[in-house]
Amino acid sequence: MQARISLPWFELNADILTRHQAEARPLLRFEQIPLELTDLRLVVRQTADIMRRYGALEDADYQKVQTLGRDQALLDVVRQWYRTGAERHAAAPVGAGPQAVEHHPAESSVLDQVLMLAMRPFLSRCAEVLQQRAELAIWSHSHCALCGGEPDFSVITPAAERHLICGRCTLRWKFEPLTCPYCHNGDRSRITSFATPDGQYRVYACDVCRRYLKAYDGRRARRPVMPVVDSVATLPLDAAAMQRGYSG
Ligand SMILES: [Zn+2]
Ligand SMILES: [Zn+2]
Repeated sequence: MQARISLPWFELNADILTRHQAEARPLLRFEQIPLELTDLRLVVRQTADIMRRYGALEDADYQKVQTLGRDQALLDVVRQWYRTGAERHAAAPVGAGPQAVEHHPAESSVLDQVLMLAMRPFLSRCAEVLQQRAELAIWSHSHCALCGGEPDFSVITPAAERHLICGRCTLRWKFEPLTCPYCHNGDRSRITSFATPDGQYRVYACDVCRRYLKAYDGRRARRPVMPVVDSVATLPLDAAAMQRGYSG
């Protein structure tokens, strides 16, 4: 599916990136996603099929998603889902106080999970455009420069940098290696880090917000990071992190 989605066009230069960086505002507007309604419907229904087959979707939820996949309202639901993720990090106007909405994947609804998987081919296509651009280095926030999603995996480069990987569009961008991307705790004594015995994977767990992020250690790797494969290969690390009282 991903190969036949057309590459999106959106304007990109250092000035634009600098402005978005200052406002913490992601680049991609919903209207710029190359979304074909027929394709979207198909992916939503197929995602629901696969999730049900692997026991990740109850019958009632499955029926709801199937109905939505045929519904005229699908595009509105997807637009709302996209915007909620894209806008929640934008810098609040002065005097507005802290952002009221905090996102926790563990509590995200089943529909969110379906949409996240179904939208990935479209959003990763958009991420391909930004990924190749040098201007991406201007972005220093912990949420995704393209879509505003949260990181759900990371990779340590041979130069010992940590690059976060967006859970929605798979964009990768550089971020402080020992700062928690979820609560921005930068006190190294309150970050717990441990590795698998072979040193291939690592967990960074935050002792302030109790969330953790997994990393593929590219310093010892013979292949590039493969987020989908590596997320599954590290399920024992999730178990170890949860046993220590952290959540994903
Ligand atoms: Zn993203
Ligand atoms: Zn934290």
